[in-house]
Amino acid sequence: MSSLNPFEIAQHQLDEAAAILKLSPGMHAFLRQPMRELHFSIPVQMDDGSYKVFQGFRVQYNDARGPAKGGIRFHPDETIDTVRALSAWMTWKTSVVDIPLGGGKGGVICDPKMLSEGELERLSRGFMRRVAHFIGEDKDVPAPDVYTTPQIMAWMMDEYETIKGRHLPGVITGKPVPLFGSLGRGDATARGAIYCTREAAKLLGIDLKGATAAIQGYGNAGQYAHQLGRDILGLKTVAISDSKGGVYNPDGIEYEKALLWKNQTGSVINFPGAQNITNGELLELDVTVLYPSALENQITGDNAAKIKAKIVGELANGPTTPEADLILFKNGVYVIPDFLCNAGGVTVSYFEQVQNSYNFYWPLDEVQARLDAKMTKAFHAVHEMALAHKTHNRLGAYLVAVKRVADAVATRGWVK
Ligand code: GLU
Repeated sequence: MSSLNPFEIAQHQLDEAAAILKLSPGMHAFLRQPMRELHFSIPVQMDDGSYKVFQGFRVQYNDARGPAKGGIRFHPDETIDTVRALSAWMTWKTSVVDIPLGGGKGGVICDPKMLSEGELERLSRGFMRRVAHFIGEDKDVPAPDVYTTPQIMAWMMDEYETIKGRHLPGVITGKPVPLFGSLGRGDATARGAIYCTREAAKLLGIDLKGATAAIQGYGNAGQYAHQLGRDILGLKTVAISDSKGGVYNPDGIEYEKALLWKNQTGSVINFPGAQNITNGELLELDVTVLYPSALENQITGDNAAKIKAKIVGELANGPTTPEADLILFKNGVYVIPDFLCNAGGVTVSYFEQVQNSYNFYWPLDEVQARLDAKMTKAFHAVHEMALAHKTHNRLGAYLVAVKRVADAVATRGWVK
């Protein structure tokens, strides 16, 4: 399958799992589509006094296992099909780590880099005014994703509480820690991937101490993967990149200096002592671990055969196409698939909700120990399933996750 439409890819991945699980035609048809979608426009007054109208979406893909859950992306290339795919992947993600939530996703077509702080706040509050009656802590719970931040979650929570007239912090997760966020949510996505990498290396007999890594994408997930890869696994990151391009230094790239450089210059490119490379070149470097941590469709039929990494930890959602999956599997590249590898974020989002509803907050080590237990268990469930079916880990993850969702749908009596 060579389509690059993320929703068609998500449906194709489900189709393969449905055939192996022998889902009934009705169940299969139900799981191929979102349960609900909201499309809306958000008028925002710009700093110059003019008005701009932004298009937004919120998709609730499936809530059989609990309230829909998933982030909100602010991106110029956002499309409804991307949001649909991401909401499907959230459904499989919450299921694979076995937390009592469904899957959803939101998006706004906008370029946050072109907005002032005031414009961003008005857009965020405008988004919440559109979705306030569609979401809720017992219906659908948003969170951060590409180009959305804890500060944006705080504005959205405040707008929601203002509309509802009471304290309701559990409506959204990924909030700043002083405003009912959870300790450990900031680095949770990367931390979950690091735990999975640790388990994969044990199975493969790879010593990660001093082994090399390349990270495509230097947002929340990529930055923390750099830091935690070093601190927890002893990885030496030799290449990093962002939307403007990448840098490579075979002697290693120091995390603190790279972060400072990115914050000061707006990009990792031209980092002192390193050589500029393209995002495409980064993916093909001869490293032990590759973390695609940016956007969809990065490893495709065109470049999959050139991937030299032994372990690919997918911190992004949807970075690998189905065609590439088959090539990587044939070549013995161990892929930790996206909705397993990056599930640490939503897992700690779930912990955040639990703490919000108890109104009692856990210490950091408790959050991290619970995250490790969830990720490690899910990792091995997926690995075993893939082995049992002699297939790649993505299909293994689908078999674990889709079965749980289908069981919940059937037990509710929606579709048998
Ligand atoms: N946006 C993140 C993801 O794709 C986190 C979602 C959440 O915490 O609800 O998993």
